[in-house]
Amino acid sequence: MLKKTFIYFITLLLLKSFLIADRLTDVKQSGILKAGVKYDFEPFGFINNDGNVVGFDIDLLEYIAKDLDVTLKIQQVTSKNRITMIENNTIDIAAASMTHKVNRDDTIDFTISYFFDGQALLTRKYCKKRQATGFNGKEVGAIEGATSGKNLKKIAPKVRIIYFKTYDEAIVALQKGEIDAITTDLVWCSIQAQKSNGEFKVLNDTISFEPYGMGIPENESNFRDAINFSIQKAVLDGTYVKLYKKWFHKEPERLPEIWPN
Ligand code: GLU
Repeated sequence: MLKKTFIYFITLLLLKSFLIADRLTDVKQSGILKAGVKYDFEPFGFINNDGNVVGFDIDLLEYIAKDLDVTLKIQQVTSKNRITMIENNTIDIAAASMTHKVNRDDTIDFTISYFFDGQALLTRKYCKKRQATGFNGKEVGAIEGATSGKNLKKIAPKVRIIYFKTYDEAIVALQKGEIDAITTDLVWCSIQAQKSNGEFKVLNDTISFEPYGMGIPENESNFRDAINFSIQKAVLDGTYVKLYKKWFHKEPERLPEIWPN
């Protein structure tokens, strides 16, 4: 009887440790950090002229992977599928220009905020509108799964939001005059304006606060701690500022929070 009970408890313990898999242990054991990044959101994640996927998010992930002593494996996510890909464990982490919103926290968790932006509008050069509210009754492009369409609707309820799957598709539509503007985060809008040889301009007044967090699986506190410590280490050793200057060509106005020792 005693032997049976002993075997029963050992089996229970083994089962428990199997079921309560820890993502940090899994990642370290596999030696691979599976990360989702954008391929169309310069300068966070995009394809450069040599055909390589590069950007601020990718560099920061490379740092984190090195810190965890694992290899980074990236794959493309979009604004629409990035949360699902974390939920169904296709990826361990998404560094994908993702705003940490309260309602996005239902099924996944987020790291500390590692970048701070706000939402703007990208228009064609002859656009006379000065404010977001001026787009009531107009057609504005936004990306499926992004915060942007809903944010603009709150300010300009009569705007018609035209949804696109990718930012590249939205840019083509703006070029062709099929939409009056694109709305999304300011940094991306500014880069598109710079690259357009005067074809596009930006309405700089931001209409929202967009703090970016990396998306990670729900209830994986060891994993979340490790990534948070790694982001903070990048700030403390100067890597964060170096990468910031590399991709944004200026000093950061705000750094990720650092927890004291
Ligand atoms: N930061 C915004 C969001 O998370 C817009 C950029 C994006 O599409 O990722 O929805």
